[in-house]
Amino acid sequence: MNVAVRLPAHLKADCSACAALCCVIPPFDALQGFGFDKPAETPCQHLCADHRCGIHEALIPRGFEGCVAFDCLGAGQRLTALAVERFGSADWRARPDVARWLFAAYPRMREAQEWLARLTLAATVAGSDELKALATELAAQAPQWPGWSAAEHAGWQARVAAALAPLARE
Ligand code: SF4
Ligand code: SF4
Repeated sequence: MNVAVRLPAHLKADCSACAALCCVIPPFDALQGFGFDKPAETPCQHLCADHRCGIHEALIPRGFEGCVAFDCLGAGQRLTALAVERFGSADWRARPDVARWLFAAYPRMREAQEWLARLTLAATVAGSDELKALATELAAQAPQWPGWSAAEHAGWQARVAAALAPLARE
């Protein structure tokens, strides 16, 4: 069966609503299409003060294919919105407390948002109400994702893996 599935808007990157989190938090590797090596938690040298990319129109010729291909699946704008809600700002340059919180939360947000995308796609392809309900339950917890304990994280990881396992065997 050929099923065309599109991710909903909240599961796609919206860089216009994000504080350029992927341009500062993760490390880059020149061998993976990021132009140069960059340590984690350090702004890209092409990132402008307004959180926009200074070479956006020339990413591929400048060797940044990785930036074109990357999609955080909506984790960036979701985390930016949570920071604004919590601190009144997502300005990691001006607010060290905001930077610490964002930098610590980003990997967890990326992972949980990827689980959400996988569950959402699987629910659509399989026509599964159970998977849809699990995706809805996970999404409802999004404000708590950055503060999950290790046990809560492990619990969700196990639930998502168990829910998706039957589809992987088909
Ligand atoms: S983290 Fe996501 S939304 Fe933010 S700038 Fe990067 S790709 Fe865009
Ligand atoms: S090149 Fe542009 S899009 Fe890529 S990390 Fe640097 S500022 Fe971000």
